Amino acid sequence: MGRENSKNVWVFIEVYDNKIRNVSLELLGQGRVIADQLGEKLVGVVIGDNIAGLANEVIAYGAETAIVVSGNEYKDYSTDGFANALTALVKKYAPSVLLIGATRNGKDLAPRVAGRLETGLIADCTDIEVNSEDRLVEWTKPAGNMMSTSICPDSSPQMGTVRSNVFKKPAPDYNRAGEIVAEDIGTKADDIRTKIVEIIKTVQGETVNLEEAEIIVSGGRGMKGPENFAILKELADILGGSVGASRAAVDADWMPYAHQVGQTGKTVKPKIYLACGISGAIQHLAGMSSSDLIIAINKDPEAPIFNVADFGIVGDLFEVVPLLTKEFRRIKNG
Ligand SMILES: Cc1cc2nc3c(=O)[nH]c(=O)nc-3n(C[C@H](O)[C@H](O)[C@H](O)COP(=O)(O)OP(=O)(O)OC[C@H]3O[C@@H](n4cnc5c(N)ncnc54)[C@H](O)[C@@H]3O)c2cc1C
Repeated sequence: MGRENSKNVWVFIEVYDNKIRNVSLELLGQGRVIADQLGEKLVGVVIGDNIAGLANEVIAYGAETAIVVSGNEYKDYSTDGFANALTALVKKYAPSVLLIGATRNGKDLAPRVAGRLETGLIADCTDIEVNSEDRLVEWTKPAGNMMSTSICPDSSPQMGTVRSNVFKKPAPDYNRAGEIVAEDIGTKADDIRTKIVEIIKTVQGETVNLEEAEIIVSGGRGMKGPENFAILKELADILGGSVGASRAAVDADWMPYAHQVGQTGKTVKPKIYLACGISGAIQHLAGMSSSDLIIAINKDPEAPIFNVADFGIVGDLFEVVPLLTKEFRRIKNG
């Protein structure tokens, strides 16, 4: 597929529990910017079962067109089914750019589709822009202690996965008009090599969805041990938030990896990020510095976390955190 014949910016719309994932809405926002710069259309691709209602949302969030592939075989995500449908659509329409959220499923789907299309893929990006001269997409991602920016001049489509929370979700406009295209792409049951036997939802409290949390209370090496994360959990519960961790805390086995914030963990953008006993290494900041409000508690007044914090408390977290919990509980109980 030649780049000269390709046109339009596509966003793969990931759906979970019949709702569009935030990262896909964020990508519609940045996809809109890229499409405008290229003078092309923005298209959202939704694959699932009983998802027709989501097409209007795709348009409300900025797309000109929503392509909908519906069928019982797409009720749950499967690598084979989704890769088959998305590859067929790309072959038919030849988009110039394809954006996919760097979620667990997105990271599974994108390389399969890129492989089948024999195109390149830049994974786990934290920024995407168009170069105004050559009109190529520039894909930026962390690479060790540096950031790397790559282009894919021979790829069609130019393809990448992009992390959650690096772009702002646009405001929806439900009066926007757009085109909804239903595509009938069947995948035979035999062609889906994995079978879902049972879906076991994790028990409340064990689950962590940091990327969509509005309040995160994070702990680092200053927590001194796994048992002390209980005081963060207590504060997070009062605030209706989730518990995060630095890599030092995760590497020490104090918290599971799913809670890690930073370059090699999750990128988060909560309304409030509370960093407790976290020094503020650049790799940690890479995952949380775009939070709306950052509050840091650290006993070292020189800790670099204070350079990004909106509010800083210099003190012993083992005194400060229980005091905050007590005060928020008092406010909450009136
Ligand atoms: C390639 C690469 C990728 C990385 N990816 C990540 C990543 O994704 N996420 C990440 O977090 N790190 C990452 N790191 C590691 C990062 O460089 C730091 O080592 C790590 O973030 C440090 O964690 P920390 O702040 O908890 O620990 P430290 O740097 O040891 O800081 C502990 C802080 O706790 C404070 N403290 C101690 N006791 C108390 C107390 N009682 N009350 C208040 N404050 C107290 C101290 O003053 C100190 O500032 C990565 C490193 C590399 C090289």
